Amino acid sequence: MDKVRLGKTNLEVNKIGFGALPIQRRNMDDSIAILNRAYESGVDFYDTARFYTDSEEKLGRAFEDVRSNIYLASKTAAETPEDFWNDLETTLKELRTDYLDLYQHHNISFCPKEGDELAKAMAEAKEEGRIRHIGITTHKVTLAHEALDSGLYETLQYPFSYLSGKEELELVEKCRKLDVGFIAMKAMGGGLLKNAKASFAFMNQFSNVLPIWGIQHMSELEEFLSYPQDMIIDDSLRQDIEHDKEELGDNFCRGCGYCMPCPEDINISLCARMSLWIRRFPTEPNMDERTQKIMEGTKDCIECYACVDKCPYELDIPRLLKENYEDYQNVLTGKTIIK
Ligand code: SF4
Ligand code: SF4
Repeated sequence: MDKVRLGKTNLEVNKIGFGALPIQRRNMDDSIAILNRAYESGVDFYDTARFYTDSEEKLGRAFEDVRSNIYLASKTAAETPEDFWNDLETTLKELRTDYLDLYQHHNISFCPKEGDELAKAMAEAKEEGRIRHIGITTHKVTLAHEALDSGLYETLQYPFSYLSGKEELELVEKCRKLDVGFIAMKAMGGGLLKNAKASFAFMNQFSNVLPIWGIQHMSELEEFLSYPQDMIIDDSLRQDIEHDKEELGDNFCRGCGYCMPCPEDINISLCARMSLWIRRFPTEPNMDERTQKIMEGTKDCIECYACVDKCPYELDIPRLLKENYEDYQNVLTGKTIIK
């Protein structure tokens, strides 16, 4: 498996990184089977977070005996030193280890800088050997630049896929220049990209980028493992990518859920992308009574715009909800036929 050097951390990890968010949705045995298969196949970088319910526990159980052969990265969304230390302690316990290879601030609302309480806590944890390297994850380009300019971070985790544009490419380049490791999250567009082959080939163009593929099923893992390491974007994949770019544009909901909870209890991350979902995946399963009820909930939107302030892509969520609702109704009543 090809290796990626994660910037100044000097960690050399295999190019297929494992994103451990989706295994929250699997039971313990299935998750451990997937993790074991990944390990046996040479996958050695696993990214989880305190926020991902039992993901850390699953990794801990799977890898307790082979801890020194792998790299474990986790994240904390703590915004106070007290929460930071509590999170770190829980994470280490759940992962059944006494150190993390990488600990990242998880999409917090500001960038901790030299002298801040949180930055001090991170530095102290590193001095104590409980964490080996310090990183940050964000969906906001301004915060990403702030983090890079601060000189405090050894890695940046940021959404990056073949839909990415100039801003993201500039970040990848800036990371290369500053020798900061770039970890690509949402490499499948938050679940809306179906073309794993094109995504894999896209990532191969960037020697300093480590994609962490969110794996929920064994078949997904097998697919990534089956690709030749040196696969490049050929004409046919290029056409697929162009087609997806055209269909999705910039203004689509990635389903990250950072805008939630909504005071009216609207399931924004599902409803704001329903039109795409029912076109890109089988339509029928989303036409059941339960989903219809969830879509009806969008009518409760009071346009308070609280969600918009939290959306890293600055989407006009109330408008998206209306459009998706109308489209959904048209499909439901047969006015619109999806081919
Ligand atoms: S604008 Fe609508 S969807 Fe957004 S938080 Fe307010 S009520 Fe919820
Ligand atoms: S509307 Fe924005 S914040 Fe909410 S789920 Fe979609 S992309 Fe994420």
